[in-house]
Amino acid sequence: RAKEQGRSRVEFFRSDLHVRLLKRAAIEEALRSAIPAKRLRLVYQPKYNLNEEPAMIGAEALLRWRDADMGDISPAEFIPIAEACGLIHELAMFVEDMLIQQVKEWRHNKLSPPPIAMNVSPRQLKEPTFAQKIVKKINDADIPHNLIHLEITENALLDSNDAVRSNLEFLAKSGIELSLDDFGTGYSSLSRIKSLPIKELKVDKSFVDGLGENPEDEAIALTVLSLTTALGLRSVAEGVENHKQLDWLRQHGCETVQGYLLQRPLESDHFEDLLAKNG
Ligand code: C2E
Ligand code: MG
Ligand code: MG
Ligand code: MG
Repeated sequence: RAKEQGRSRVEFFRSDLHVRLLKRAAIEEALRSAIPAKRLRLVYQPKYNLNEEPAMIGAEALLRWRDADMGDISPAEFIPIAEACGLIHELAMFVEDMLIQQVKEWRHNKLSPPPIAMNVSPRQLKEPTFAQKIVKKINDADIPHNLIHLEITENALLDSNDAVRSNLEFLAKSGIELSLDDFGTGYSSLSRIKSLPIKELKVDKSFVDGLGENPEDEAIALTVLSLTTALGLRSVAEGVENHKQLDWLRQHGCETVQGYLLQRPLESDHFEDLLAKNG
C-alpha cells in the first residue's frame, strides 16, 4: 500500500517535470524562429517624477512576445530560457536594434523622447565587447548618449569578471547611465555598490508591495532610500499599484515612481501619443 502510494507520487512528480520540460523545449524552439521573424516587440512604461513638470522623466522598454500557439509568454519566463540555451545574445541584439531604431524614429518625428532604459541580461555584460558595440550603435543612429539608459541586476555583478567591470566603466565614461534593477533581491554587497558607476537604484516591487502596511517592507525601503541619498543616486520605486504605496513613497522622499497605478507598459503607438501630448 505504502509502496503503491510512493510510486504514484514519483509518477506524479515525473509527469509534472515532464510537462515543464516539454513546455521549456517548446518555448526554446518557438523563440528560435520568433527572433529572426521579428515576432517580438517592445512596450514602454513611463517613469514619473512626483515633483517635476513634465512628470515623465523616462521610460523602460520591456519585451513582449505572442506566439501563435502558446499565446502571450512573459519575459520572466522566456528570458531565463534564452539565457540557458544560448539564444540570449541574438535576442539582446534584436532588442538593442529595435530600441535604437525606435528612438531614432521618434527623434526624426520631433517627438523628443525622454531617456529610455533597456534591460540588460547578466550574460550580455560578460561579453567583452558589449559596451563598445552598443555605444557604436547609438552613435551610428545619431542618438545622444543620455537618451539610452541600461538597467542591470545585482546578480550580474556577482561573479563579476574583468569584462563586466570594463563594460560598466566604458558605458559610464560614454555617458550611458546605469540603473541597478530589482535592488534588494540579489546578493551584491553595499561596498560593491559604492565602487560602481551607477546613477539609479530601483526598489524592487516585492518591497514596494507592502508600503503603507508592512513595517518590514517599509524598513527595507527606507534603507534603500537613505542609501541612495547618501550616495547621491536617484531612487525609483517599481511596481506601484495603489495610493497607499504612492503616499508612503511621497512622504519618505522617493521622487521617482513606476507602476500600474501611474501607467501600464504601453504599445509603441500609445507611448507615441503620450509623447505627442507632452511635447
Ligand atoms: P523588470 O525589469 O524588473 O521589469 C519590471 C516588471 O514589472 C515588468 O514585467 C513590468 O511589466 C512589471 N510591472 C510594472 N509595473 C507593475 C505593477 O504596478 N504591478 C505589477 N504586478 N507589475 C508591474 P515584465 O514586462 O513581465 O518583465 C519581467 C522581467 O523580464 C523584467 O523585470 C526584466 O527582468 C525582464 N525583461 C523584460 N524585457 C527585457 C529585455 O528586453 N531584456 C532583458 N534582458 N530582460 C527583460
Ligand atoms: Mg527593469
Ligand atoms: Mg525591476
Ligand atoms: Mg523587479
